[in-house]
Amino acid sequence: MKVLVINCGSSSLKYQLIDMENEAVLASGLVERIGIEGAKLTHKFNGEKFVTETEMKDHKVALTLVLDELTNNEHGAIKSLQEINAVGHRVVHGGEKFNKSVLVDDTVLKEIRECIDLAPLHNPANLMGIEAIQSLIPGVPNVVVFDTAFHQTMPAENYLYALPYEYYEKYKVRRYGFHGTSHNFVSQRAAEFLGKKREDLRIVTCHLGNGSSMAAVDHGKVIDTSMGLTPLEGVCMGTRCGDLDPAIVTFIMEKEGLTPKEMDNVMNKKSGVLALSGISSDFRDIEEVEDTNERARIALTQFANRVRKYVAGYAAQMGGVDAIVFTAGVGENSASMREAILSKLEFMGVKVDPEKNNMRGKEAIISTDDSTVTALVIPTNEELMIARDTKRLVEVK
Ligand code: ADP
Repeated sequence: MKVLVINCGSSSLKYQLIDMENEAVLASGLVERIGIEGAKLTHKFNGEKFVTETEMKDHKVALTLVLDELTNNEHGAIKSLQEINAVGHRVVHGGEKFNKSVLVDDTVLKEIRECIDLAPLHNPANLMGIEAIQSLIPGVPNVVVFDTAFHQTMPAENYLYALPYEYYEKYKVRRYGFHGTSHNFVSQRAAEFLGKKREDLRIVTCHLGNGSSMAAVDHGKVIDTSMGLTPLEGVCMGTRCGDLDPAIVTFIMEKEGLTPKEMDNVMNKKSGVLALSGISSDFRDIEEVEDTNERARIALTQFANRVRKYVAGYAAQMGGVDAIVFTAGVGENSASMREAILSKLEFMGVKVDPEKNNMRGKEAIISTDDSTVTALVIPTNEELMIARDTKRLVEVK
């Protein structure tokens, strides 16, 4: 079975065609600047890149070009579109309706549309992707995989905010959490890697990338996660502020005369380690000058401190922790950040092995043999997780 995985952003689109016989990626690519001047499609096949620059007015035009590339005589991975057996779509917000991946039908589309309020930038793009595929390759089953679904096991005491209850009832204001596909994938894989069942473990997963989130996976179920109603809450991130005193929001809005939309932009795009360091949102750029630049040091130390607070906090909530898992750009690649986070957790049984930790981008245990808590790195693979869910749902249809 060949599954096409699609991840539509508001002006971008990522795709992978995966052969589920051996889970090999046959081709992949990225479309940027959809609906904006300078649109570009980069298709990857056999280690080579093929770039197409042409106007793309919407996601349907972009997906038409993607399907052309996938069936291209020279660098396409398949001869005809009939070889695509199913399409898996990443959808950001599934609200309270979806606690697992589902096959797309009219009711599902309507319910995703009802979640637009909760993810006004993402869900419309995800819907455009699904509708475009439905009209371009009709009859091929579509599956949707939600960023929020894995976190739906959270108990009410952890997903409710201490705000008037009517806001939850009227507007569904609550913690949802994101990166669920990644937290699910790495917690499952970590258990397998340790030769254990996830249901027997208490795991803290740290998805540390441009956007970062933490999750407490207690015997296979998420009981708490750091992102909230939106992906703004939690640890500070590349350009997002994460947790702050909520009174600051109205204070700054009044002082600077900002509209809600402008303030939202400040907190999402101009904050985080970018604001703290004054250098970059990219951890590599900040790490490069950490020894000589005080604000770079502050940014990285604050990030490590905030992640550590969540790790220890979640361990306390689960009554202990068996494994701490690092994933995504920073988690997989930055040995110094992992060390900074874990180094002060020795009091709860975490001992980092500096030699084992000195690696990047592969599955490995990074704690010592006598560490009572196992720390490990598991590279995430959200596309593969989406493809697996798609295959499973299409097969039981
Ligand atoms: P996204 O949230 O956009 O999917 P990623 O998970 O790809 O992000 O993470 C991207 C981030 O990973 C980059 O901003 C960069 O800061 C960080 N990163 C990548 N490689 C390294 C590295 N070798 N050392 C430190 N940070 C890294």
